Amino acid sequence: MRRKIVAGNWKMNGNRQVAQDLAVGVSNIADSLESSVEVIVSPPYIFMADVISHIASSVNVSSQDVSSNDNGAFTGEISADMLAEFGCTYSIVGHSERRAMFGDTDDVVAAKVAKCIEKNIHPIVCVGETLEERESGKTLEVVGDQLRRALQNLDEAGLEKVIVAYEPVWAIGTGKTATPEQAQEVHEFIRGEIAVINEVVSLKTPIIYGGSVNAENAKSLFAMADIDGGLIGGASLKLEEFEVICKAI
Ligand code: 13P
Repeated sequence: MRRKIVAGNWKMNGNRQVAQDLAVGVSNIADSLESSVEVIVSPPYIFMADVISHIASSVNVSSQDVSSNDNGAFTGEISADMLAEFGCTYSIVGHSERRAMFGDTDDVVAAKVAKCIEKNIHPIVCVGETLEERESGKTLEVVGDQLRRALQNLDEAGLEKVIVAYEPVWAIGTGKTATPEQAQEVHEFIRGEIAVINEVVSLKTPIIYGGSVNAENAKSLFAMADIDGGLIGGASLKLEEFEVICKAI
């Protein structure tokens, strides 16, 4: 049995009070779950300490990004050590918004993944194709390339810490979700690519789906063989909907 994960990526939303309220609300949800779903929240950096002080031990905390550097003259960056000091145990790496708007190339993503592993933070490695790439039949090529480059240089112990998030760019924040079959095809492919690196680890790696997951579509997505949960954007800011999603596994 693979770990099941529902992670809420709050992106750049809310304020201090909203973050505290969400932390308490998500804790209540996590404590009420009967199945063994791992619940993760990913607040903006500045609310992380507040969130951690309001959250139950049943919820894990992730950052939305991390620096590939240890310390020094990197204005605006946050290091993996700083995150770990606050009790943050996961980091989203290579989200398509960072790739598209903030210059996170495959090499940058690989360096961030490696830094997370070195510092004992679990990277949630995001991969996904644009609409243009899907329509020109390049989905698996693009996703495979992003994945191989992100995971380059990891040994077995490192690979074991990785969570992969398949987030088709065209499905993020658009209300347009991949069908369960479309997502499953890519998840199965991703598991196969990880198997090329290490078959035993590939069977254990959680591969979660992100892109307009909501209360209506979560169950059918999570029912697919290689979909081990979700990375939820907009719907993670609405507690009632997030609860339905957590219970859909
Ligand atoms: P939405 O659920 O808002 O489409 O966002 C998905 C996402 O980007 C999560 O990281």
